[in-house]
Amino acid sequence: MMTQKVETDVCPKCGSILGEIVTTQTGKKLQRCSKSHWNADTRRNEGCNFVKWLEVEPEKLDEKCPKCGSPLLLVVTRSGKKMKKCSTNTWDPQTRQASGCDYVEWINGTTESLDEKCPECGNPLVLFTTSSGKKMKKCSTNGWDKVARKATGCTFIQWLQ
Ligand SMILES: [Zn+2]
Ligand SMILES: [Zn+2]
Ligand SMILES: [Zn+2]
Repeated sequence: MMTQKVETDVCPKCGSILGEIVTTQTGKKLQRCSKSHWNADTRRNEGCNFVKWLEVEPEKLDEKCPKCGSPLLLVVTRSGKKMKKCSTNTWDPQTRQASGCDYVEWINGTTESLDEKCPECGNPLVLFTTSSGKKMKKCSTNGWDKVARKATGCTFIQWLQ
């Protein structure tokens, strides 16, 4: 079972209330102190520098665990990495032990949609960033058939420097 800790939304540094929950580009969530503000001239945050990182609720996926058949969850770690894990897997902070199914699948890379068309088939392109930080443009119709173990759709790929 997931337990949600309810904390008071007050800055522990200065006692001001915390601002709105902001979602970063990597899917992490944070709250800044309301005494902090963004200075567009210096491109820095000024005022109180307290930042509260929020645990991102795992997203339930429409996929089944290959080990036990339970639903998979999409989990975003604090460093912005994504992984799929089995929903029966839980961590007991008291015994410091994991229980349930231990299936984990790290998701390498991220895709962002681009406002560009594929030169080969005219479908939108996506920007794919690998886990090592390399970037490429590829056709959004390109996919991977897990059963046949081969690429499907348009194969247009353009690596970026
Ligand atoms: Zn503060
Ligand atoms: Zn499982
Ligand atoms: Zn294409």
